[in-house]
Amino acid sequence: MNISENISKIKEEIPSEVTLVAVSKTKPNEDILEAYETGHRIFGENKIQEMTEKWEQLPKDIEWHMLGHVQRNKVKYMAPYVSLVHAVDSLKLLKEIEKRAAENERKINCLLQIKIAEEDSKYGIDVAEAKDILQSKEYQEMSHVKVVGLMGMATLTENESKIRKEFSFLKTTFEDLKEEQDSFSILSMGMSGDYKIAIECGSNMIRIGSSIFGERNYN
Ligand SMILES: *Cc1c(COP(=O)(O)O)cnc(C)c1O
Repeated sequence: MNISENISKIKEEIPSEVTLVAVSKTKPNEDILEAYETGHRIFGENKIQEMTEKWEQLPKDIEWHMLGHVQRNKVKYMAPYVSLVHAVDSLKLLKEIEKRAAENERKINCLLQIKIAEEDSKYGIDVAEAKDILQSKEYQEMSHVKVVGLMGMATLTENESKIRKEFSFLKTTFEDLKEEQDSFSILSMGMSGDYKIAIECGSNMIRIGSSIFGERNYN
């Protein structure tokens, strides 16, 4: 695996308005530094403990994105440094992030994870739940968290038209909610297997792991 080559190749082929998150979960610091040396600064992890260890050990100008499901009791560990939380799925979690962001005198940007795949995935909320959160008095009174957009994961399938349908649904939902949410600017969709389709469907943030760092041994 030539990490720097992979990262340059992806950056060359995506439009400049699409942000690349290099998903470094399970990968060692050396691999992250190899990507860092190319000038890349945005990395994504799916476990708070692993991300925090890497944050402590690596250059402080890295922007860390939390991609995975967040347990409320672990929010405090990432609150001092996390730059974007992709998978918020409840008002309760948002409240905890608000509390810990305030303690750290920070503002933390978040995305709501919308469930767009029909299969398995346990995580994510539906559009009505997202609207409820955004329209709640509690959210509107928060001053340390901001929901800046949506995240979604398409069904793992070879069926391109299915993937396209799911991403298009998320794009439509994003545009719909954006009409009432001035802060909305990020639509995070697309991984190694489907990012080209995601970009065609309107994604402006892609999360790429294995196409940069190679296959993961565990997850
Ligand atoms: C692991 C992960 C990715 C990256 O997956 P690849 O298929 O390796 O690109 C993207 N998004 C989330 C939420 C992930 O957990």
